[in-house]
Amino acid sequence: MEVKGFPLEGVGQLEEKELERNVVLTTLEKVKAWARSNSMWPLSFGLACCAIEMMATSGSHYDADRFGVFFRASPRQADLMIVSGTVTKKMAPLLRRLYDQMAEPRWVIAMGSCATAGGPYVRSYSVVNGVDQIVPVDVYIPGCPPSPVALIYGLNKLQEKIRYEARTGRSVVEDGL
Ligand code: SF4
Repeated sequence: MEVKGFPLEGVGQLEEKELERNVVLTTLEKVKAWARSNSMWPLSFGLACCAIEMMATSGSHYDADRFGVFFRASPRQADLMIVSGTVTKKMAPLLRRLYDQMAEPRWVIAMGSCATAGGPYVRSYSVVNGVDQIVPVDVYIPGCPPSPVALIYGLNKLQEKIRYEARTGRSVVEDGL
């Protein structure tokens, strides 16, 4: 007889049903990923117009708190950086320093076309054409600006990514997802 894939001897039908109903088998990695993905704390860090949409995401109308997303004022307390706006070459070293001050594991969302690839300022002498030249990016959100709904979709995608990588031990990029 098997219960949840484990062979068990001397267990009756009644006990088997009780075990199926009451025993949850998982790994510590999956539990950690579940907890982390449901309590992402982004750094309060806005760079330009996209930041207004990011702030609206936390307001009562869109209520990002329901996904466990609470903005923190210190990089020491944050595990997510939402790069919401134009990254200038002058700001780039400070952005990197803030990223380095965040504890691991940490994630980055590039919000909007400026953070993703330079946006309308792509030909400017002073703008970085994509924040992934400075920090590793987990999720890109297109738009100028993306709506709060698009940011929430990106946050949900990041939650899925964290859980998938803990479950399979493989990266979503390697698996082409
Ligand atoms: S993507 Fe558009 S809205 Fe966002 S920071 Fe750039 S110019 Fe502003």
